[in-house]
Amino acid sequence: MTASPFATHEVFNQTPSLGDMDLWNDDPALQGAVRAFGRLDNELLKSLAAFGERWGTAEMAEFGRLANENPPKLRTYDPHGYRADRVEFHPAYHALMRERMAAGIHCSTWGPDGKLSKPGAFVARAARQMMSAEVEQGHQCPIVMTHAATGALLSEPSLLKEWLPKIRSREYDPAFQPADMKASVTLGMGMTEKQGGSDVRANTTRAERDGDAYRIIGHKWFFSAPMSDAFLVLAQANDGLTCFLMPRFQPDGRVNALRLRRLKDKLGNRSNASSEVEFQGAYARRCGPEGEGIKTIIGMVALTRLDCVIGALGILRAALLQAIHHARFRMAFQKKLIDQPLMRAVIADLALEREAALALGFRLARAFDHPNDADEAAYARLITPAAKLYVCKMVPGFVYECLECMGGNGYIEENSIARLYREAPLNAIWEGSGNIMALDVLRGVMREGDAAEGLLARLAKETEALPGAHAAIVRIQKEFASANREAHARRATEALAQLAAAAALAASAPPAIAEIYATRRLSGIAGRNYGDPVPDALAEELFPRSFSRTA
Ligand SMILES: Cc1cc2nc3c(=O)[nH]c(=O)nc-3n(C[C@H](O)[C@H](O)[C@H](O)COP(=O)(O)OP(=O)(O)OC[C@H]3O[C@@H](n4cnc5c(N)ncnc54)[C@H](O)[C@@H]3O)c2cc1C
Repeated sequence: MTASPFATHEVFNQTPSLGDMDLWNDDPALQGAVRAFGRLDNELLKSLAAFGERWGTAEMAEFGRLANENPPKLRTYDPHGYRADRVEFHPAYHALMRERMAAGIHCSTWGPDGKLSKPGAFVARAARQMMSAEVEQGHQCPIVMTHAATGALLSEPSLLKEWLPKIRSREYDPAFQPADMKASVTLGMGMTEKQGGSDVRANTTRAERDGDAYRIIGHKWFFSAPMSDAFLVLAQANDGLTCFLMPRFQPDGRVNALRLRRLKDKLGNRSNASSEVEFQGAYARRCGPEGEGIKTIIGMVALTRLDCVIGALGILRAALLQAIHHARFRMAFQKKLIDQPLMRAVIADLALEREAALALGFRLARAFDHPNDADEAAYARLITPAAKLYVCKMVPGFVYECLECMGGNGYIEENSIARLYREAPLNAIWEGSGNIMALDVLRGVMREGDAAEGLLARLAKETEALPGAHAAIVRIQKEFASANREAHARRATEALAQLAAAAALAASAPPAIAEIYATRRLSGIAGRNYGDPVPDALAEELFPRSFSRTA
């Protein structure tokens, strides 16, 4: 065969495409976390393996690409000029939603009465949530909110009874029609207004009594997944800020008065629709007592914060495995990149950080599996915001470093790591930005001092053999007790998250990993960027724990 007259060169030393992956079997670190903190019996093992294989296919990755390259479109009016207020999604988005709901990620922790469905349900769900977040993040938003909504509905038994059966259905039904005509429902949340998101007490949207129900007048500045079937919304009622359930359709079957003004043009998270909305006397029902809106919706917010952490873990893994894959194939200066001492140090350091985040996230999920245990409740109360601050904030720098491991190829849109980079800051922002998380931890420490002291004592015991742990505890106590404690809250919260991560590693990972993490992070001797060298034998252990496939 003669060479093409147009061939100028042979292509070599480019990394092969990842192709089909196995998100469970190729991730021993994830398996270790589920084993340590969940109930990994044979049935769950089989189910997670099947899930990891399916979500790792090139077909699922392609759905993710298409859903982001074909973002949702707002149809404000129909062709005849009538208000439509509908959002159209690409079929790939629907395919992702269908698969995720079939796996029950929106509901698997809830039994028919809204109580925990079975022991270990949160950890098992976290594994599926993380693996699917490795593939696509935008469609997580309605899944996560639907799952979390039950946390608020628990405050209003009549609403729970009405909505939970359809929340628990695994048959995705995107039809735009009243909930009672549908196989399943999804739910969203409306808290943030133009004049303030973190400070929801500044909400001006008001609620007026209309018989047993209410009419809501006002707006929301961020209102994601607007095609959901109902929303948990905060509005000012007579007795103060109150939580409401606002369905997309009124009881008489007419479309409710939610007017979608426009969709946000976002940095990332393109497959997900985030809208600006006005409520023009929208029908709603009270969820929880009047004036207790924050207390009610916190039941939902705590769960979405947990999912911000778990979703962030998905991004970390997706970026890290690409870096490892690239470094295993790419030659530079006569060696595979993975064998160049400095690249080994960078990737091992990244893998170490991911191990800690993973252990922390799954230890946290375990706390949600024990809602009636006071110690676990204290863990969830303080470590949810601490982990959200620590893990979600690490994502942009982490993805950036992984991207750089791939050189110029990392910066090219065709590589999905570019999409991860745009996605990276989001989990830290929504559901409470970094400072808000630190202030929330501080509030918990101040209001529930005994519970906080008890938690620190337990963490101290769990980390007593680790270098730097004692000094870290003294530092945390000092910063939270400082006269200027608000200004110290970030440092103290990060240190608390690192201590909890070290404890979680000690319980779930090989001892050498917990030890080096503690040495680096608790003693505060780590550099500001990744690349602190680790012993060669440990690097050999870390790489396959993050991504065991080598071919
Ligand atoms: C893509 C996307 C989708 C979203 N979807 C939804 C949705 O569906 N529903 C919904 O209700 N919201 C949604 N949000 C809104 C999101 O939850 C808020 O943007 C977020 O909570 C921050 O609120 P804010 O934008 O009003 O910022 P602000 O509250 O103005 O905060 C700005 C900055 O100030 C800091 N800050 C605030 N108070 C203090 C303080 N006391 N001390 C120190 N620092 C402080 C914050 O940490 C933050 O860094 C979405 C946001 C995004 C980006």
